[in-house]
Amino acid sequence: MRMLLHVCCGPCSVFPLKHLREAYPEYEITGYFYNPNIHPYKEFVRRLDTLKAFAAQIGLEHLIIDDRYTLEEFLQQALTAPGGRCRNCYDLRLQQTARYAREHGYDCFSTTLLVSPYQQHELIKAAGEAAAIQHGIKFSYIDFRPGWQEGVQKSRELEMYRQPYCGCIFSEKDRYCKPRKGQN
Ligand code: SF4
Repeated sequence: MRMLLHVCCGPCSVFPLKHLREAYPEYEITGYFYNPNIHPYKEFVRRLDTLKAFAAQIGLEHLIIDDRYTLEEFLQQALTAPGGRCRNCYDLRLQQTARYAREHGYDCFSTTLLVSPYQQHELIKAAGEAAAIQHGIKFSYIDFRPGWQEGVQKSRELEMYRQPYCGCIFSEKDRYCKPRKGQN
């Protein structure tokens, strides 16, 4: 069984990769980095570099980097998506993962986004299921959230860079821009 695992960043991949190796030894796992939502570009590079270093450290043999940085397209969609920016963001990344998996002969795909209790888990699951139908490939839904704390602890021990916000410019604003009293 060959699984294409969409990877959002290094720290979020710690537990899912460990879990998949232990619980699904029959799977050959390939990591797939595709995250044009990350802002700014320096942050994108930093997260990618962190993932590459971690992959080398744990001996992840297969890691595919899709470093397209389609910022304008992402922003345009995020501002106008009828279902909201996060739904669009999950769709964008999982549609591309499913497409790549189908075109390159994988048996299934999944995503490390399913590890975070701070993400909209049900929306991610729905996006994966929709991408699976659209591209004719199995979505392996696994709730990785019980391993979230373990992943956090391990990433701290390894002194990995841990990002302080989800990824896009909007989430960066939510994290740092606190309106002054009386401001909207
Ligand atoms: S908050 Fe996170 S999931 Fe939502 S659009 Fe921004 S990067 Fe994507």
